[in-house]
Amino acid sequence: MSHTEGPLGSSVHDAAQRAADIIDVLVPRPDSRDEAARLAMPRPPDERQRLIAVLRAYGEPEPIEISDAALAALRQVAADLREVFAAADAATAAGRINALLAGRAHPPRLTTHGGESGWHLHVDSSDDAPWAEWFLTSSCLALAVLLTERQAPPGGFCGSLSCGKPFVNVGRGSARRYCSPACGTRERVAAHRHARAGTGAPAPSAAAEEAG
Ligand SMILES: [Zn+2]
Repeated sequence: MSHTEGPLGSSVHDAAQRAADIIDVLVPRPDSRDEAARLAMPRPPDERQRLIAVLRAYGEPEPIEISDAALAALRQVAADLREVFAAADAATAAGRINALLAGRAHPPRLTTHGGESGWHLHVDSSDDAPWAEWFLTSSCLALAVLLTERQAPPGGFCGSLSCGKPFVNVGRGSARRYCSPACGTRERVAAHRHARAGTGAPAPSAAAEEAG
């Protein structure tokens, strides 16, 4: 993945997508909508390695070391950020972002991480802030910028019941429904089969088009 810290849009989108990817590693997807139940579910044995792989893919410098305590704190932040992705409208998402930043964000500061990157904005306490503090503040900042640009929720969850992966809303168009073209196609095919099975006739192609 390329990591030019160039235009605002790409670095903001990267940080929001990184939040989605980390939530997907640290918060189990299944049906339970109860946060406590999700946090209490057994963890996959490769959870830490998958988290490190995501951080590495987004340009985090080596060595990437995550202690047990840091991992637990990151899980809680991921569960909190998931609620931003779950917000049904901009006002709800904004309220949740504000609540997460309140009392945890520090004054905005510019950093290059000692010349390792281009100048960019942080609202954590320092370049050596704990993982969870960095994850919460950098994610909230990116999601806040996306929300203000779109005047809409910054993310959502894949509408494929067999997927449910978090995704980032970008662009000016209507909100997306699926995390990937693969999930959209699978759901369209399933809807088509279901319609045919139900009526004994081919599904109207308009319905299939609309599903995207
Ligand atoms: Zn999906």
